[in-house]
Amino acid sequence: MKVAIIGAGASGLVAGVCESSHSDVTIYCADDKIGKKILVTGNGRCNLTNVSGFESAYNQDISKFLERYSYLDIISFFNNYGLEVHVDEEGRVYPLSNSAQSVVDVLENALKKANVKIVYEKVEDIKANGDFEVVTKTSVEKFDKVIVATGSEHEILDKLGVKYKPFTPSLMALKTKQKTLSLSGLRLSEVSATLVIGEKSYTQYGEVLFKDKGLSGICIFSLSAYLSRINNFNAKIYIDLLPKFSVENVVKMLSNRLKLNFDNLSEFMTGLFHKKINNYILKCLNYDTTMPINKLEQNEINNLAKIIKNMPFDIVGYYENNQVKSGGVALSDLKGSLEYKKIKNLYFVGEVVDVDGICGGYNLSWAFISAMIAGEK
Ligand SMILES: Cc1cc2nc3c(=O)[nH]c(=O)nc-3n(C[C@H](O)[C@H](O)[C@H](O)COP(=O)(O)OP(=O)(O)OC[C@H]3O[C@@H](n4cnc5c(N)ncnc54)[C@H](O)[C@@H]3O)c2cc1C
Repeated sequence: MKVAIIGAGASGLVAGVCESSHSDVTIYCADDKIGKKILVTGNGRCNLTNVSGFESAYNQDISKFLERYSYLDIISFFNNYGLEVHVDEEGRVYPLSNSAQSVVDVLENALKKANVKIVYEKVEDIKANGDFEVVTKTSVEKFDKVIVATGSEHEILDKLGVKYKPFTPSLMALKTKQKTLSLSGLRLSEVSATLVIGEKSYTQYGEVLFKDKGLSGICIFSLSAYLSRINNFNAKIYIDLLPKFSVENVVKMLSNRLKLNFDNLSEFMTGLFHKKINNYILKCLNYDTTMPINKLEQNEINNLAKIIKNMPFDIVGYYENNQVKSGGVALSDLKGSLEYKKIKNLYFVGEVVDVDGICGGYNLSWAFISAMIAGEK
C-alpha cells in the first residue's frame, strides 16, 4: 500500500514509523527539517508523556484510544528506537538527555532504516477520488491511503472539504485587568491557581510566573485550555500563595507574627513572601506600609489572610504565543481507527483532530497515540 503522510511533526513522524512496517511511506514536510516543533517543546527538553493524569487532561473523553495505547506504549515505542527516558517528580516524562533533539534524531534514524521517503515540499492540493492525488509545486503523486498530520493548519482540511471546529489558541499566558508590571519576572512555585468560569472551577498546582500585563507559567497555561475550549477569555483566576494552609492557619500564623518585634507593616510582611509580592498585597488592600504594627486590627489580619489564600485576577485576554490550538476534526466524524467516516483510507492524527490537553506531556501523548492507531496495519 502506498501511503502519504502530510506533515512531519510529532504525529506525522510517529505515524510514518508505524506505517512503514507494512506500507510504502512518503512524508511531506513543509519545513526544511523534520520535527521542527518538537525541538521547542518542554523548553527544549520535550515532555513526551506523563505517567498519570490522563483521565482529566483532555477536552473530551478519549479513553477508548487510551485503552489501546497508554503512556507505557509511548515510552516503549521510543525505547525500542533507542531513546532512554526519565520521569520527573511530577510524573512528566523527558528524554534522559533532556534534549528534544534526541527525540527528533531517534525518529529520523527510525524513518531512514525503514526507507521512508521524505519530500521537503508543502502539499498544495489533495484530491480524493477513490485513491488520492497529492500535489506539491513540483509533483503530483498517487497514494492509496493518506494520513493528515498537519497540526492546526487548516488548508488541507479545506481542500478535502472536511468539516472542522475552528482552531483557537490554547496553553498560553493570560492578560489581566490588574497591573502586574511590579511583579513582572517573578516566579512562584508550589502555589495553586483556580480558574472560575460561572459555576465551574478548575485548580492547578505548581508554578505561576508574572508577566508585565498578566500571568504565565505551567498552572496558567493549563487553565487557559479551559477558556480556549469555550472561546471566552473573561474569567477570574485566584492564586493561593499557601495551598497547604487553611485560611484559619494563615490567620493564626499572621497573628503570631504580631508578637514579634516589628515597627511597621512593611517589616511585618518581610520574610513572608518575595518583597514584590508583599508590596503587591499591601497595595491591593490599600494598606500603608508605614502603619505601626500595634495599629493592625483583626479584620486587617483577616483581609491579609484572605488575599494570601485568594489573590484575585480578572482575565481580560491572552498573549499571542500559544503551545497548541483547540479545535479540529471532530472525533464523531472519525472511526476508532481515526479513519474519516466519509472518505475511505483518509486518516487524521495529532492536533488536527479536536483533542487538546493541558500541560504535562498530554498533547504530544495524543499526537503519538493517534499516530500509532492510524499507522496500524
Ligand atoms: C513552545 C511549545 C512547547 C510545547 N511543549 C510541549 C510539551 O512539552 N509537551 C507536549 O505534550 N506538548 C507540547 N507542545 C504541544 C506539541 O508541540 C503539539 O501538541 C504537537 O507538536 C502536535 O503535533 P502534530 O504533529 O499534530 O502537529 P505539528 O507538530 O504542528 O506538526 C504539523 C506539521 O505539519 C506541517 N504541515 C502543515 N500543513 C502542511 C502541508 N500542507 N504540507 C506539508 N506539511 C504541512 C507543519 O509545517 C508542521 O510541521 C508544545 C508546543 C509549543 C509551541
